[in-house]
Amino acid sequence: MNQPKNRREFLETLGALGAASFLAGAPTARAGAPAGEKLAIEGGSPVRKTPLHSAPYGPQFYDEAEKRELIEVLESRSPFRSRREGSKVFEFEKAYGAYLGVKHVVGVTSGTTALYTAMAALEIGPGDEVILPAWTWYADYDAVVLCGALPVFVEIDESLAMDPKEIEAKITPRTKAIVPSHLQGGVADMDPILEIARKHKIRVVEDCAQCCGGRYKGKFVGSIGDMAINSFQLSKTITSGEGGAVSTNDPKLFERAVRFHDVGTVRVHGPDIGGGILAAFASCNFRMNEFTGAVLKAQVQKLDTICKRLRANARKVREGIADLPGLKMRKMPDPEGDLGVTVFLDLGTRRRRDLFLRALRAEGIGASGPGGSVILPTDPRIENKVTIHPGWPSFNSPEGKAIRYGRECCPRTIDILGRMGGVIMDPNFSDDDVNDILRAIRKVYPAISKA
Ligand SMILES: *Cc1c(COP(=O)(O)O)cnc(C)c1O
Repeated sequence: MNQPKNRREFLETLGALGAASFLAGAPTARAGAPAGEKLAIEGGSPVRKTPLHSAPYGPQFYDEAEKRELIEVLESRSPFRSRREGSKVFEFEKAYGAYLGVKHVVGVTSGTTALYTAMAALEIGPGDEVILPAWTWYADYDAVVLCGALPVFVEIDESLAMDPKEIEAKITPRTKAIVPSHLQGGVADMDPILEIARKHKIRVVEDCAQCCGGRYKGKFVGSIGDMAINSFQLSKTITSGEGGAVSTNDPKLFERAVRFHDVGTVRVHGPDIGGGILAAFASCNFRMNEFTGAVLKAQVQKLDTICKRLRANARKVREGIADLPGLKMRKMPDPEGDLGVTVFLDLGTRRRRDLFLRALRAEGIGASGPGGSVILPTDPRIENKVTIHPGWPSFNSPEGKAIRYGRECCPRTIDILGRMGGVIMDPNFSDDDVNDILRAIRKVYPAISKA
């Protein structure tokens, strides 16, 4: 369906659907949204005169702490990580590891290079297969292809993370790892994923880039699988503009990650791994610099505050709309651990979802469909298996030649993403802001649910 472009078209769309007119007044239950209140999209007065908007979280919390850490690096005239004592990157790694409850962390330049590093640590290469959700960020796919292995997609479920029930059918003797991505502040259902992985002796790499600080059954995401990666790019929970981390409890995987990210050496991490016992191998330079480490050292101290506020606001929204008839929320494998970045409703159809988003935005509330990721199998460069060189090992094996991406491999993912409409949250939303969100959803939802 074409998107309706104005109010008239919007109403005609509803009419065409046989929906009750908004003007007739949809029955609403609560104070704050009296029955018959005219929707903003129909020309009524919006819930908010100044639209509510969210901004990247980390920079909202920049203060004297980040400044002090950065000035110390400047004054040290030592922005390269050449030592342990006094290194901001080292202090960040220790603080972040302690927060997650993970033994080993290595800071790197981005979430993407963290994924490359995890693949190298796990010795993933040509002939191997790695299972990914059909909806996640490019980096998950690129890391697999750039090490010469073959990405195999599974559908997501209504949690917006990979559906554990879809995994086993995709496992072959070549499957070496599963990468559950914890997307849009939600957590993947790790118990069944780990059970399948253990049964088939497959490694699990958690991608926590969109869920730093999220928890699953009492454990932080990033402390559950064999390895985990995180990103500290601007749009993540805490940020230094760019930056990443690899974490693991396994000393051997840690040593391989350390070596890969620093031209085969263990120079600064040596004491953490008995001086290094494994052989060096062809590697990269993905080292984090001291300015980045300085900002992240300060930001880690704020992670808990950001998460608590997001979570509390999102819970208020969920609880405040729970009584709406027929309301379906995003599936949450652990509602307590959900980060609350966005509160997603399952509106049943794409048409209804689009109307819901337009109507909410007209009320001055930030709303969008699931974003920040890509339906990877439908991306042209992925569907067409375009690589650096035509002889690339990923797609020159019999399996690589046979595999088909494109829409046909993920119809359920496409359907689910089209039905989800989300209210965008922010750690600095006040109680009044949260009440406006509730009021807007309660005003708009009854009419939308009939559309
Ligand atoms: C952002 C992101 C990455 C990559 O992180 P960068 O720091 O941008 O390289 C990887 N996976 C997911 C799910 C992401 O959202």
